[in-house]
Amino acid sequence: MSESTSLAWFRRDLRLHDNEALAAACDADGVLPVYCLDPREYGDRPFGGPDSFDFDKTGAHRARFRLESLSDLRSSLRERGSDLVVREGTPESVLPELAATVDADFVTVHTRPTPEESSVESAVERELGGDGVDLRRFWGHTLTHLDDLPMALSEVPDTYTTFRKAVESAVEGDEGGDAGRSGESAGDGDPAGRDPLSEPDVPPLPVDAPVAGDLPSLSTLVGTADAESARASDDRGVLSFDGGETAALDRVESYIWTGDHLREYKETRNGMLGADYSSKFSPWLNEGCLSPRSVKAEVDRYEDRRVENDSTYWLVFELRWRDFFQFQFAKHGSDFFRRGGIRKRTDVDWRADETQFERWTAGETGIPFVDANMRELNATGYMSNRGRQNAASFLANDLRLDWRRGAAYFETRLVDYDPASNYGNWAYIAGVGNDSRDRSFDVRWQANRYDENAEYVKTWLPELDALPAEYAHEPWKLSDEEQATYGVELGVDYPEPMVELDGS
Ligand SMILES: Cc1cc2nc3c(=O)[nH]c(=O)nc-3n(C[C@H](O)[C@H](O)[C@H](O)COP(=O)(O)OP(=O)(O)OC[C@H]3O[C@@H](n4cnc5c(N)ncnc54)[C@H](O)[C@@H]3O)c2cc1C
Repeated sequence: MSESTSLAWFRRDLRLHDNEALAAACDADGVLPVYCLDPREYGDRPFGGPDSFDFDKTGAHRARFRLESLSDLRSSLRERGSDLVVREGTPESVLPELAATVDADFVTVHTRPTPEESSVESAVERELGGDGVDLRRFWGHTLTHLDDLPMALSEVPDTYTTFRKAVESAVEGDEGGDAGRSGESAGDGDPAGRDPLSEPDVPPLPVDAPVAGDLPSLSTLVGTADAESARASDDRGVLSFDGGETAALDRVESYIWTGDHLREYKETRNGMLGADYSSKFSPWLNEGCLSPRSVKAEVDRYEDRRVENDSTYWLVFELRWRDFFQFQFAKHGSDFFRRGGIRKRTDVDWRADETQFERWTAGETGIPFVDANMRELNATGYMSNRGRQNAASFLANDLRLDWRRGAAYFETRLVDYDPASNYGNWAYIAGVGNDSRDRSFDVRWQANRYDENAEYVKTWLPELDALPAEYAHEPWKLSDEEQATYGVELGVDYPEPMVELDGS
C-alpha cells in the first residue's frame, strides 16, 4: 500500500491536546505541521464598508503572545520527532506549494465562523482543489460542538438565556428543552458534550519536508517601538500571559487546583486587580492553546474531587457566553460588523470626533474609571470584564462615538482578542447586537460599586493617589481649595472630564 501524507494547518488551535484537525492529520503515514503568518493580519488595514477607517490589525501584546505560542508548539512537536514549518505569506499561496513539495493527499484545519477567516479557508480550498488536494475542515473551538447544537444554526436564539437553557437541557438529556430540535441539519452528534481528545501520536515528517524556517521577530511584525513596549512588563498587570499550550495548562493547574480559586469564582469574578479574581484563560482559549472542552473536563474533575457549587457552574456558564457569540457569528456573519449591527438600527446618530476618540484611547477622558481601564489595556493588553463593559459603554453610549472604532481599537490591543467575543460584546453594549434591552452602564455608579476604595483607579492613575476614594472616582467635584490641599490640579495633573455624566 502506498504511504499517505497530510498537512496539519495550524491556525488559532496552537495545541496538541483536544485537537481534532491534528488528530485527523495524524491518520496519515507522514504529517507536515504548518503555520502561516498571514501579512493581512498585521499592520494598518481598512475596516471596510461605508464610513470606513483604518486601524492596526494586530497589536504588539497579541503578536508577542502568538509568537510565544508558536515557539512552544514547535518545541512540543520537536520533542515528538516532528516540527512546525512556519512561513510568512497567505495560506492560499503557501499551502498549495507545501502540499506539492511533500505530495500531500489532504490538508486538515479547524474552521472558524467569522467572515475573514472563512474566506481564507475558501481561498485555500479553491487553490488546493485545483491540485486535487482535499481540505478537511473540523469544528473545534467551542464547548458545545456545532453538530451537537440542539437546534439548526439558522435557529440559534439571538438571546443568550434562551440559547443557554436549550443547550443546558440538551446536555442534561432533556431534548424537549425550550428550543427543541428543528430537524433542519440540527446536530446528530452528542448533546451531552464530547470528551476532549487525547493527544495523538504524531507521525514523522514526510521525507521531502522543507526546512522549518525561523519564527520572525516581534519587531518584524509590529515595529521596534511597539515590540519594546510589549516586552516591558508592568508589575501592575494581572498576569504576564506567557503564550503557548505549556503555559495554558500551567494556568489551569494553578487557578483551579493549586490556588483552589474555582470554588469562589462567582464571588470574585467582578474584581479588577490581581491574577486570581477570574480565570484569565481567555488569551489561551482564543489563540487555541487551550480547548474549552478541556477546561470543562477540569471543572468536572474539580466538582468530583473538591466541590460543586455556583462558582463551578458559573465558569461553564461564561464559557457558554463564548460559545453563544461563536454561533451568533456563524448565523449572522458580517452583519455583526455593520454600524447598525444585526438589528440593522438606523435610529442612532453615531458621531465621529477624532479628538474625543483619541482621548478615550489614551485614557485621558477625565473619567478615572474609564481612564484606568484604558491605561491597563494599553500597558498590558488585558482588561477585566467589568472594565471592558464600562469603557465600551462610555464610548458607545455616553460619547456616542462609532462603536466599531472602539471595538477595532480593542481588536488591536487585546491579548485575548477574538472577533466574535469582541464585536459581539461591543454590539451588545452599543444596543445594536443581541438582546434589545438598554445596555448602557452608569460609569459613576459602577466605579463606586466595583472599586469601592478606588484602589484600582489609583493603581493605574497614580496622579490621583492622594485623593479620598469618592474624589478619586469623581475628581471634578474637588473645589479649588481641595485641589490645592491634595495637590491635584484639574486640567494640569489630571484632565477635566470630557463630558458630564448623568448625575454629576
Ligand atoms: C466590550 C467587550 C469586549 C470583549 N472582547 C473580548 C475578546 O475579544 N475576547 C474574549 O475572549 N473576551 C472578550 N470579552 C469578554 C470578557 O470580558 C473576557 O472573556 C474576560 O474578561 C476574559 O477574562 P477571563 O478569562 O479571566 O474571564 P473569566 O471570567 O474567567 O471567564 C472564563 C471564560 O469565559 C469566556 N467569557 C467570559 N465572559 C465572556 C463574554 N462576555 N463573552 C464571551 N466570552 C466570555 C472567556 O473565554 C473567558 O476566558 C469582551 C467583553 C466586552 C464587554
